[in-house]
Amino acid sequence: MTATIDVPNSVFEQAIATRRDVHRHPELGFSEHRTSAIVAERLRRLGIDVHEGIAKTGVVGVLRGSLPGRTIMLRADMDALPMPEENDHDYRSAVDGVAHACGHDGHVAILLGAAAVLSERRNDLAGTIAFFFQPAEEGGGGARLMIEEGALERFGVERAYGLHLTSYLPLGITAFRSGPMLASSDEIDVTVQGRGGHASLPHMSVDPILTASSVVVALQHVVSRQTDPVEPAVVSVCSLHAGTTYNVIPSEATLRGTIRTFNEAVRAEMPERIRRVIAGTCEANGATFSLDLKPGFPVTVNDAAQAAYARELIAKLLGEQRVITSPQVMGSEDFSYFAQAVPSCFYFVGSMSSERTAYPNHHGKFDIDEQALLTGIRTTVALALDAPLHAP
Ligand SMILES: [Zn+2]
Ligand SMILES: [Zn+2]
Repeated sequence: MTATIDVPNSVFEQAIATRRDVHRHPELGFSEHRTSAIVAERLRRLGIDVHEGIAKTGVVGVLRGSLPGRTIMLRADMDALPMPEENDHDYRSAVDGVAHACGHDGHVAILLGAAAVLSERRNDLAGTIAFFFQPAEEGGGGARLMIEEGALERFGVERAYGLHLTSYLPLGITAFRSGPMLASSDEIDVTVQGRGGHASLPHMSVDPILTASSVVVALQHVVSRQTDPVEPAVVSVCSLHAGTTYNVIPSEATLRGTIRTFNEAVRAEMPERIRRVIAGTCEANGATFSLDLKPGFPVTVNDAAQAAYARELIAKLLGEQRVITSPQVMGSEDFSYFAQAVPSCFYFVGSMSSERTAYPNHHGKFDIDEQALLTGIRTTVALALDAPLHAP
C-alpha cells in the first residue's frame, strides 16, 4: 500500500459534524436508535450493504473489494454514559444525565469517515470490510450479543481491529500492545447480615457495619497476599451502605465493588478467594452474608502477530515517533469478546492537546481534539486497505 492515506477535507469536515451531532444526541446502550439510523443511512448512501437490528441497535456495513482477500472487521462502539456533561460547547449533550464522555461519538465519526474514503477506493480494495457499529459497550455487552447472534460467522469475519480515543495520549500518538492490554472487569454485590439492636448494647447485636468494614479491609489482602505479585490485579470496594441514624445498629450492610485482572487464570481464582475472605470475616463476627458475583468483560488480549503487524503498518503511515507501546490499562473493553473469537488488535489514538482535552475518559468534561478523528480515519483506512492481503 501507499505510505500516505489522503483523507479529503470534505470527509474530515463531515466527520467533525457527525461527531458533534452524535455528541449532542447521546444514547445509552441498546437505545442507540437515532445514532444507528444515521449510521445506516450514511452507509447506504456510500453504496455499502447495510444490515440493521444486529444485537438490537447494532449496524453492520459490508463493503466488498474488487480483489480477493480476507474479511476484516472494523469496529466502532456507539453508546454514551449515564452521567451529566459538564462541557459548555455548543454541541454539548441535549439529553439530561447522558453524555458521550468516553469518545464513542468520535469512534462513530471515524468509522463513517473511513467508510467514505474506502467506498471511493473499492477498486484498490482487496477482500471484504465489515464495518461493525456496535451497541452497548459501557457494561451492556453489545459485542457479546453480536457474537451470540452469530454476526462473526454471518459476515465471515477473519480479523478484527478497533480503536479507542484517549486523553492519556497526546494528539497524533497511537499506542499498541501485544497480549493483555485492558483488564477483565467483574462486579461483586455483598450483603452482610447481622442482627440489629440498640447502639448502647452492642453485645446483644451482631454489628454488620463493623463486620462490613472488616470485609473491606480483608478484601485488600486478596491482591496483596494471595495473588502473584507479578500479576496485576485490583479489588476495589466502591460502595458501602448501612444504617439510618445515630443510635441503631442496623441488621445489614451492603457492599459493591469491582475486580480487575490481566490474566484469565488469575481472574478465575478471584471468586473463590473473595468468597473465602468474606466467609471467614463474617464467621469471625457472627454474621452471615450473600455474595453475587457478576461476570463482566474478559481481559482484552491482542494477538501478538496482529499487534506487531498493525503497529508496523501504522508506524509506516504516521512515522515511527508517533507509535508507542501502550501500557496495560486497568479499564476494560468488550472488544475483548471479539479478540477472543478472532485474531485481533485494539489500539489507542491520542486526543489530548490542551488542558481542555486532558480530562480523563468518563469525566464530565472529557473532550477530544477533533484532529484525532483524522488520525483515527487514516489508521482505519490503512488497516482496511492492507490487512485483507497482508495481515498475518
Ligand atoms: Zn467508557
Ligand atoms: Zn469506551
